[in-house]
Amino acid sequence: MDMRDITETTRITPSAGVTRDRHGWRAKCLQRLVRMDLPVPLSFALPCETVGAIAAGRHLRLEALRHVFEAGSGLVSVRPSALMPEWGGPGTVLNVGINDTLHARLCDVIGRDSADAIYLSFVQSYAINIARLDPDMFAQEGKDALPRALRAFEAETDEPFPQDPAQQLAEVLRSMARAWDGPTARLLRQAKGAPADAPLGLVVQDMALALGPGLCGSGTIQFVDPVTGNPRVTGRFRGQSHGAAVGTGAETLYLTHDERGPSLQDIAPETFADLIRFGIAARERLREEMQIEFVVTGGRISVIDATRVVRGSRAGVRIAVSLARDGIIPAEEALMRVEPRALADLLHHQVDPRAPRDLITRGINASPGAATGRIVLTAAAAQAANARGEPCILVRRETVPEDIRGMHASVGVLTERGGTTSHAAVIARGLGLPCIVGATGIRVDLRNRTLTAGGRELREGDEITIDGSSGEVLAGAAALLPPALDDNFTQLLDWASQAGGIGVRANADTPEDALTARRFEAQGIGLCRTEHMFFDAERLPAMREMIFADSADDRRLALARILPMQRQDFTQLFEIMAGLPVTIRLFDPPLHEFLPHDREGLRELAESMDLPLSDVTRRVEALSEFNPMLGMRGVRLGITMPEIYDMQARAIFEATVDASRKGDPVVPEIMIPLVSAMREVELVKNRVDAVAAAVRNERRTDFTYKLGVMVETPRAALRAGDIAAHSAFLSFGTNDLTQMTYGLSRDDAGRFMGTYVAQGVYSEDPFHVLDQDGVGELLLTGVQRARRQAPGITISVCGEHGGNPESIAFCHEAGFDYVSCSPFRVPIARLAAAQSAIRARLSGVED
Ligand code: PEP
Ligand code: MG
Repeated sequence: MDMRDITETTRITPSAGVTRDRHGWRAKCLQRLVRMDLPVPLSFALPCETVGAIAAGRHLRLEALRHVFEAGSGLVSVRPSALMPEWGGPGTVLNVGINDTLHARLCDVIGRDSADAIYLSFVQSYAINIARLDPDMFAQEGKDALPRALRAFEAETDEPFPQDPAQQLAEVLRSMARAWDGPTARLLRQAKGAPADAPLGLVVQDMALALGPGLCGSGTIQFVDPVTGNPRVTGRFRGQSHGAAVGTGAETLYLTHDERGPSLQDIAPETFADLIRFGIAARERLREEMQIEFVVTGGRISVIDATRVVRGSRAGVRIAVSLARDGIIPAEEALMRVEPRALADLLHHQVDPRAPRDLITRGINASPGAATGRIVLTAAAAQAANARGEPCILVRRETVPEDIRGMHASVGVLTERGGTTSHAAVIARGLGLPCIVGATGIRVDLRNRTLTAGGRELREGDEITIDGSSGEVLAGAAALLPPALDDNFTQLLDWASQAGGIGVRANADTPEDALTARRFEAQGIGLCRTEHMFFDAERLPAMREMIFADSADDRRLALARILPMQRQDFTQLFEIMAGLPVTIRLFDPPLHEFLPHDREGLRELAESMDLPLSDVTRRVEALSEFNPMLGMRGVRLGITMPEIYDMQARAIFEATVDASRKGDPVVPEIMIPLVSAMREVELVKNRVDAVAAAVRNERRTDFTYKLGVMVETPRAALRAGDIAAHSAFLSFGTNDLTQMTYGLSRDDAGRFMGTYVAQGVYSEDPFHVLDQDGVGELLLTGVQRARRQAPGITISVCGEHGGNPESIAFCHEAGFDYVSCSPFRVPIARLAAAQSAIRARLSGVED
């Protein structure tokens, strides 16, 4: 055996060479507390390499451990000190060092009962956690519990309970070092982001007695509310309580003055004032909101540990902003401390984390926020409930475009099928509605108007809560927290804007969306999906008339009815955006999405169009496709039925003239969807140019516009060079691009995505987080080829990935000009953009 002495302990003093890398975060944090002159009991740090060597079986020299018992109470605690607090570690062991001699001495100082309690609790903890004896043998309580426990130990091990404090300590250190090396601990810390071979340091600390005469006890205190982050003293204090060892007269006190019972503040105002003082000092010097663990011995405080306050997302924002406002951290650091996704919780209602949750089932968390409402199973029922003023949750197998009005009338949406980019998910995110999709555990029974989930049967009209942030469906009305778009939120985003970085626009289809985009300070609209304007009840008939037109002339006539509505849509958008860029995508979806699918709908359509039912049915069938997402949609429609794009271009240009007359000059950006060949762009460009010339002529005014292309097919990405030659901008539609790169249907992937991610086939849902290896390579290739051809071309992403922080960082590094995402994700994207810029600056990369 290697006998070199590894038993190195470093006393934690202000000048000791304690580092986080070598001794772990707790040791470093304690040194900071010592440097602040806080009353920290004598503490020693065991470096990570020592702990690693102990785990590997190296011997500890007992003589070298004795000194830790000498200067203090004779009792020590041992706590884990990993490199990061969240990596955890083996449980703290208290009261190491108690033996018959110390017990006898303690009997004189704190009384027999209290001394017994300390000794008993250590024997039990040592037997169970260190010697690994059967816990059932060590459940002694009541009279003579201590001698019984000591006898049980001897009976089980054939040896008396160890009396040498150094030997006790050596065994505790060995046991903790080995526990850290065990497979469970390894898996747990890996789940928190720690590397498998993360090291562990240990801290040995003298224990102040929390039992005995005068005010004694132990507790924790923190100075902010963990949910809101508002200043508030919370925590607990238990008198005559020393870890698990509880003395006679133990009682729990409130910390601050409280009508319900005695408080530390009232009983010991000076002790309480000290705690507050320590809290303020810790916040300033540790640059963080800390929870302080303390012991009171005869009214005197010992600060034994300080940890970062565990906080919810709202508190996270408030704490970061107030630390920066108080000048404790710079604003950039506040920006880096907030997880961008956490902002989603502030934008919407949130299930109160403190409230009970009656979980029925789970699905994919498709749009954040929480809502409570009565179950409705059809769009019509949703509208009826809304008319009665009753909040409702639309529950469907999946949603179709006709459900839009039902979605508008609901406070939340739940679907059995679908993935993160299915219809329900995209629309709900746009509307800012909480939404869960792919809840495969539910069954919607439209005939009996019921919903079965998690073995329970619910009826239409029953109340449920959906938590679109976690994907949980809850029975009844859960307690909700309101949105927190307060001053802290605004301040953080102001700082984000100052930090610079990639631009952020919004995907906005309606005036409401555009208003939301403005409210969250989007830099423009990056994608207006014009087809969403036609599902409206007043517009659908004209749309259907257009679809049923027999000739191009008839089609033009039907489109002429739609034109004024489109012009008004665009005028409104331009006015709201007040000169900011607005990118309008020409018509994209397959036409059959606008047609009814059931018999009843077909009959109604036949009636309204004054056509025989058989005629209508035949035409609907003729339009249906085996694979509509890869069929007659996008620019393919524009080429085969050019009148549609002509009408849209005209509406855009007329609105441009109208809006520019009233306000800021408008330079519309027209975008062609689903391009796969340069010639498609040329053909559309020629017609759009002709419409522009006609409108200029008719209106006797000039205007400019930009024509760009959506890169949504792998071929468009590969041919981005020649496409760029005809385009003012390229916007990557990463929803379709992901679908086509993987050969994976956006609407059906939800069925197996969970299994695929769970089995590690995909590390994440690629519709949610950009697949940097595959789809990302197409993006990089596209950007490179486009910029080689047209260096000044504007390049963006407008798929759902535009709101995903990791994908935003990727786009920033790849040199994209902006991302565009649902209006409610704009704040998240702005923060992610700022963080990406700050990170680049910190790593010395030019922004
Ligand atoms: C896309 O495909 O990424 C996109 C933005 O268009 P849509 O989601 O409307 O197909
Ligand atoms: Mg698309």
